[in-house]
Amino acid sequence: MSENQSRRSFLQNLGVGLGTTAAAFAVPSVMAIPEGKPQKDEKKLGVALLGLGSYAKNQLAVGLENAKNCYLAGIVTGTPAKAEEWSKKYNIPAKNVYNYQNFDEIANNKDIDIVYVVTPNSLHREFVVRAAKAGKHVMCEKPMATSVEDSIAMIKACQEAGVQLGIGYRLHFEPFTQEVVRIGQKKVFGDVRFMQTNFGFTIGDPTQWRLKKAMAGGGPLMDVGIYCVQASRYVTGEEPLWVTAQYGETIDKVKFKDVEETVSWQMQFPSGAMVNGFSSYRSNIEQLYVSAEKGFLQLSPAYSYGPIKGKTQEGDMKMPVVHHQTVMLEEVCKEFLATKKFPKHIDGEEGLRDMKILMAIYEAAQTGKRISLV
Ligand code: NAD
Repeated sequence: MSENQSRRSFLQNLGVGLGTTAAAFAVPSVMAIPEGKPQKDEKKLGVALLGLGSYAKNQLAVGLENAKNCYLAGIVTGTPAKAEEWSKKYNIPAKNVYNYQNFDEIANNKDIDIVYVVTPNSLHREFVVRAAKAGKHVMCEKPMATSVEDSIAMIKACQEAGVQLGIGYRLHFEPFTQEVVRIGQKKVFGDVRFMQTNFGFTIGDPTQWRLKKAMAGGGPLMDVGIYCVQASRYVTGEEPLWVTAQYGETIDKVKFKDVEETVSWQMQFPSGAMVNGFSSYRSNIEQLYVSAEKGFLQLSPAYSYGPIKGKTQEGDMKMPVVHHQTVMLEEVCKEFLATKKFPKHIDGEEGLRDMKILMAIYEAAQTGKRISLV
């Protein structure tokens, strides 16, 4: 079973439908796209998706079709067949179709307000910096980059170009997540004392970029463990003081010669809240459990595309089920149309805070030491 199949069947078990696997990567010199009719809609922000793989195709394109205040205005792809397929499907004119070589010419394209980078992690820096230099606002997928250094360079490039940088933290706009943030940060059940947060899935195809450290930056921690780190930060509204961490023994030594198969970590927050985190490419698990002075809350599924389910000691949480990417795109664009800024809580600094913690978890696992974050 390929990774996409494996990830898909796991997510489908959770009620999530994903489409087909991304086609092979190739670099074209010319795009054979017929001229379509220009479709700039003045009331909507034009978004260009860069990297038309699984997440762009199955989630973000759907979000852009459904969102009221933005639309898929352009694409950037290395695969001519995808350029043709997407252009036809979304009525994208040839002048809004780019490859990775001519992408910088997007600077002259008034139809494109935002470039959304959806490539393997190690390429985020290059494309965010190029989009910023082209004067475009940028959304970038999580994890923001594969190093703290790259994250800082991306923030700097966007600041220097005077463009907005947002990280695709879709759960920030998801109602169950917003409710746990409210309960945690408003101390509805008193102080949070302990959190258990897990996210993992069984990975397939051994050749995929997620298993290559140079492209992914690490294993499950970078890919899905980041959601657990996010959760512990947004439930407490605090930054962790320190981390300790351990790698699990590698069981599949062929598949996991480059990145970790499983990692556990512990952290403590200034209020005293303790966190146990776990991430794996060997376990289908996703759960958030929060124990507070006067109650508990639990999300399970907690982090995938949903439907997310939750309960507290008062019973089942009744929140609307939404399409995560649609509400994220709508909220980001709503804020931008009103203020010329992306929401602060998903900005580059937020991405950088996570990157520092992820790197500290790796350092703790490698050294066996407690790593201070203050
Ligand atoms: P994918 O492999 O399906 O797609 C990656 C795309 O990048 C492909 O279209 C590929 O052709 C293109 N690409 C460009 N240059 C490449 C190169 N040199 N090597 C390989 N591919 C290259 O991956 P994906 O699952 O779509 O993930 C893309 C990004 O989106 C990652 O950063 C991932 O973490 C993120 N993601 C986020 C979520 C979420 O829920 N927020 C979910 C899935 C993926």
